[in-house]
Amino acid sequence: MKIGIIGLGLIGGSLGFDLRHRGHLIYGVSRKESTCKKAVEKGIVDHASINLHSLSLVDIIFICTPINLIYPTLQKLITNLKQDIIITDVGSVKSPIVKQCELLWDNFVGGHPMAGTAEQGIEAAQKNLFKNAPYVITPTKKTPKNSIKILEDLAQSLESIVYTCSPETHDQAVAWISHLPVMISASLIAACSSEKEQTVLKLAQKLASSGFRDTSRVGGGNPELGVMMAQYNKTALLHTLDGYRQQLDEITEYINTEQWDSLEKLLMMTQEGRLPFI
Ligand code: NAP
Repeated sequence: MKIGIIGLGLIGGSLGFDLRHRGHLIYGVSRKESTCKKAVEKGIVDHASINLHSLSLVDIIFICTPINLIYPTLQKLITNLKQDIIITDVGSVKSPIVKQCELLWDNFVGGHPMAGTAEQGIEAAQKNLFKNAPYVITPTKKTPKNSIKILEDLAQSLESIVYTCSPETHDQAVAWISHLPVMISASLIAACSSEKEQTVLKLAQKLASSGFRDTSRVGGGNPELGVMMAQYNKTALLHTLDGYRQQLDEITEYINTEQWDSLEKLLMMTQEGRLPFI
């Protein structure tokens, strides 16, 4: 197939590596000339350009720009594009993107390859990033069946594990396991840092070890990405924060009123409850 990839960063670049390795002809588009040049040198794409119109002859286009640029990119892209070209995206939030994009392009299929690293940009692109990772496809009633099948086949060829669900179900699930943990972890760091007693704070910083490193990792990530998650997935994220606050209140009450049995029951339940998530 002839495949277009817009946004040659971590996700776009990694897709380019693997799809090209599987024999497809890859046409890349990125914002910077220097990125296009690197993409060709590294073997990520066969052709690269800063011009969206270079994609007029491909069969399918992956929009891999930052999430806030997916819709504006689609708006610019579709002037002079043949109606049968499938356009998909890789954005980490689906409902607002799919809602807007399918109004503009009938042959749009939302997607989210759930793999990544803490790095960004073309230098972070790597081979086999999507192997054994989930690839969620989020069609609606409007999405052409044949286009869903083509995206599914491509995702399977990357050795991803393909899931199909509505954009809303995707966003709620991702809010629980990805966006809520970022906000909880950020709150943990902020709360610890608010300790007024300097001797305690300094000692805590020295004593912090693997447990704190694990629980604070996602809260110490890229602030721009955290804000985008909250902006784009506001309703689903607020729902999870509400559930989390209720749990925290319950635990606080157990400790305050010394209901140790109830606390133990809860912790026994969470010990078991964690397993299906990991
Ligand atoms: P990234 O590494 O920053 O890559 C995005 C690339 O897009 C940049 O390297 C930039 O390349 C290019 N770009 C920016 N503006 C552009 C424009 N107007 N036109 C064309 N290219 C443009 O980001 P990423 O982590 O790959 O994320 C990309 C998308 O994947 C996001 O929508 C995100 O939600 C989604 N996603 C991310 C992850 C993750 O873990 N990071 C996981 C799954 C999905 P140059 O400026 O160098 O040309």
